[in-house]
Amino acid sequence: MSILIKDAIILTQDNEREVRKGDIYIEDDAIVEISDRIKIEAEYTIRGKLVMPGLINTHTHLPMTLMRGYGDDLTLEEWLTTRIWPIEKKLDKRMVEAGTRLALLEMISTGTTTCSDMYFFEDTIASTCKEMGMRCFAGFSIIDFDTPEMKKEMLLPECEKFIRRWKDDGLVTPVVAPHSTYSCSPETLQKSAELAEKYDMMLHTHCSETRKEVYDVVERYGVRPVEQLEKNGMLTEKTVLAHCGWITKEEVRQIARAGACVSHNPVSNMKLATGGFTPLPELFDAGACVTLGTDGAASNNKLDMFETMKFAALIHKHHRWDAQIVTAQQTLDMATVNAASYLGINAGSIEEGKKADLICLDTNMPNLAPMHNPISHVVYAASGFNVSSTIIDGKPLMLEREFHYFNKQKILEDAEKAKNELVSD
Ligand SMILES: [Zn+2]
Repeated sequence: MSILIKDAIILTQDNEREVRKGDIYIEDDAIVEISDRIKIEAEYTIRGKLVMPGLINTHTHLPMTLMRGYGDDLTLEEWLTTRIWPIEKKLDKRMVEAGTRLALLEMISTGTTTCSDMYFFEDTIASTCKEMGMRCFAGFSIIDFDTPEMKKEMLLPECEKFIRRWKDDGLVTPVVAPHSTYSCSPETLQKSAELAEKYDMMLHTHCSETRKEVYDVVERYGVRPVEQLEKNGMLTEKTVLAHCGWITKEEVRQIARAGACVSHNPVSNMKLATGGFTPLPELFDAGACVTLGTDGAASNNKLDMFETMKFAALIHKHHRWDAQIVTAQQTLDMATVNAASYLGINAGSIEEGKKADLICLDTNMPNLAPMHNPISHVVYAASGFNVSSTIIDGKPLMLEREFHYFNKQKILEDAEKAKNELVSD
């Protein structure tokens, strides 16, 4: 397959963060050429767009689109115990597939090209991502409770089978995802870490999302969550820590020393009123990797990474009374190059030889005119629905807002059906 993008404004996100004009030629899964004028016939031609690397969402729970808007205006504890956990018990494979398809449709239509998921039925989620063409780090959830899919004793052995099944796939990467320090015993954390190490896989977990969680972990184990992870082998250079809204300066140093990565989820944190502020300036100063996530659609309620970028920049400016504390460029870096480099994918920037994971924005829109500074526009002015085309692994999954590989209406109908089953008695 070949795609030619003509007359583009390109946010390369290369080492110089160059913004240039030109043409891009894509063949198979790679960006082959970027130059002022390319005269090649391609199967698909796109013209006159703002082109940027696809966005990378490092923390989400894809099937939770089915619970979008089910349980708003509640604190995390109330939300989980009175709304989410009771209906999650009813989930089955078919519903998970319907919810995942809806999430992928939303992500593809709003410019996300890689996601890092963690949930139950992860094998179903992985297969659905593969089939729809989404690059996914699929986190097999480990927790000390029976899940809707299987008994808790089965989780680690099944996770190992899952890793063996997916570890050589080009699009889906298996990840070991123990849920958190409050829902996993030290033994579960250790075994998860050992399993990830055995296959050289990544770890993904929730960490210090709420103050209550921190107090509970301190009361039970005598240490704060980051130290609890460290003590049990979970704080590594291949660990993604979602949230970190309630971490101390010492925990910032621990995270940076270990080379772990923080996934900052500002919209979900604000919606669930978690109160904590992920200390981005301190994490940056310590040299830690910070990336961005939406969290699940049940607590966001969207999977639009443009919105997440904007909130990520604004929340810290406001909180610190400092408009320069997190800049537009730093924010875009978190959602592209930083995440790609941490996850070890040859994407996140638009350069010859890189994977063709990129998106085009239609700038002929009222909210993107006039154009002073394209970096400012994508962080502060754009929304996911300005994305006109989404290309993942060289495949045009959306072109001029049309989907060629899947049936949008069927995905919406199946999700509605699954939602009705989920909430029926
Ligand atoms: Zn989460």
